[in-house]
Amino acid sequence: MPSSDKYKKELADKQKRVGSALEGLASSIEPITGSDNPSHYRNKVHAAFGVERGKIVAGTYEPGTHRIVDGGGSELENETAVAIIADIVKIASKYHMSVYNEQTRQGFLRRVLIRTADGTGEVLVVVVVTDHMFPGKKNFVKTLVSKHPEIKSVVINVNRRTDSMILGEKSETAYGPGYIKDTLLGKTFSISAESFYQVNREQAQKLYSKAYEYAALDKDSRVLDAYCGTGTIGICASDFCKEVVGVELNPRAVSDARHNIKNNGVDNVRIIKADATEYMNEICSKEHFDVIILDPPREGTTPEFISACAKIAPSRIVYVSCNPETLVRDLKLFAGEGYKAVKAAPVDMFCGTEHIETVALLSKL
Ligand code: SAH
Repeated sequence: MPSSDKYKKELADKQKRVGSALEGLASSIEPITGSDNPSHYRNKVHAAFGVERGKIVAGTYEPGTHRIVDGGGSELENETAVAIIADIVKIASKYHMSVYNEQTRQGFLRRVLIRTADGTGEVLVVVVVTDHMFPGKKNFVKTLVSKHPEIKSVVINVNRRTDSMILGEKSETAYGPGYIKDTLLGKTFSISAESFYQVNREQAQKLYSKAYEYAALDKDSRVLDAYCGTGTIGICASDFCKEVVGVELNPRAVSDARHNIKNNGVDNVRIIKADATEYMNEICSKEHFDVIILDPPREGTTPEFISACAKIAPSRIVYVSCNPETLVRDLKLFAGEGYKAVKAAPVDMFCGTEHIETVALLSKL
């Protein structure tokens, strides 16, 4: 099957899945928003290093083994990132660098994580090693950056953990500011090694635009951006409403969000560091929001969050979901609280995978 036919089929299957999941729960389902570039969209790429037949290789572990599959780059990964990984393998081979062995737990060079910013072309390289002493670090970085001038930052991360976490706790910036910048809908966001950032920029912009269309914001709207991550949804909406309050639990995301607010010169967005449900329980009888946007993780939100939404009584609730199953569960609870999904729109954020993102607009019955 030609790849365009394959992608059309994938979109049709996803449309069907969301349609049947939301049957009876949403009054209408819009056609899925597909991607113009369904391959090589992933802006976050990582690989583990290993030695196969005496040669350094980089790729992913074959499931259930300690063998590295020297991938040559998945169909979904950013191609610049894949090329950089191939060049790191060449540089490591040239300098005879020692490579970490998962079984013996010996060796130095362990993994690489690459983040690319499609809006600016900037690239961040995080080299994961097992010791803070990096012999030949200067030459390594110099060679890499001269080959790939799009690299704006190189971070060395030390990870001696034996679990599957990619990054260890300690990082040191070896080149550049330690982060890169990307643009989304005209605003600028900093991305560091650990920040949360949507993996598909093109589709994230379409997703946010659909959320704003549903939110129908105006100059008087007071908006809650629950589960706000690094503040992207609220910051991009800030020009079209009166005020945004973002709520986020992860302290690192909260500090990234505050940094992003400042860097964009935005003065009507603030971030509360809290569990979204606890925050809602606390404010639901004293504060009003005209629009509530929520974008929870795969587990969805909580019954208490949903009851608190009903107490606040916004005219619209926009639910951004990366998991149709928990969306269905939560839409039923919302219906019990008097909010019905009037429209829903699937957006293909994760082309070539099973995953699907959906935006739903809920209004008072
Ligand atoms: N809206 C953002 C992030 C969505 S990911 C974006 O589009 O980039 C979901 C976010 O919810 C993550 O940042 C995660 O840290 C946060 N989160 C998870 N559990 C939470 C909770 N109980 N309360 C508040 N935030 C939570």
